[in-house]
Amino acid sequence: MYKPWSISKIGRANQCPRRFYIQDILKKKGTPVGDARGRIGSAVHKALEKVVHGTPADEALKTASKKMPRDETEDVLGFRNAVESFKERFLRFNAERVWTELRFGIDENRQPIDFWSPKGLFRGITDLAARTDGQFIVIDHKTGRSSLEKCRDQLYGCALGAKAMWPDTRSIRAGVHILKEPSDILWDAPYTDFEVLWEHMLGLIAEAEINAERARQNPELAITGWWCTFFNHTKGCPKCQEKT
Ligand code: SF4
Repeated sequence: MYKPWSISKIGRANQCPRRFYIQDILKKKGTPVGDARGRIGSAVHKALEKVVHGTPADEALKTASKKMPRDETEDVLGFRNAVESFKERFLRFNAERVWTELRFGIDENRQPIDFWSPKGLFRGITDLAARTDGQFIVIDHKTGRSSLEKCRDQLYGCALGAKAMWPDTRSIRAGVHILKEPSDILWDAPYTDFEVLWEHMLGLIAEAEINAERARQNPELAITGWWCTFFNHTKGCPKCQEKT
């Protein structure tokens, strides 16, 4: 009923019913709270997309931060060495093909489907995917502190997306790239048993469906948490009133 799911939508369903009701059932966007860290992270993400296709780090970061306030631009440019370090490391893979912001959709039969199709069961965007000699790589970039455990569901989703699109893929290396200097990629053990990943994903979706239904039945139930920092679901929410 609430599909297509994504890892972030599953997260929203499990966090605050009120936010899920507004954002995912009524389909109204929350008002993003001005967050410099988020803007800086997204500019560095854009720069990373360019450097893996050959753009020098300086140029990529300058372009990505062009319209930002001066202090934020300086912060973005401060990632130069970290971005350069990732680029050098990535080039060592000698990838035959590289995709950035790779969109994928999967239907209930684990078949690929258009990202936007309402018939999709699950969909996502992979920050960076690459095919090397006989192996597939998926990478999720993180500008703040993170861990493999926190990102594992996201990596499972990206791997399932790649497997659906390229069914002959036998093994996928998935990792979280923590943007620091020198670049650090936290690799998970290679994914070879895609049945296990799929079962895990179906379990997450089943739990999210239950919580989505709770949101539909209790649209005013607001559960505060760290997620309130990023969106302000105005009017009537105790947490929002605290902020204004
Ligand atoms: S501010 Fe927090 S508690 Fe209020 S609706 Fe948004 S996520 Fe829920």
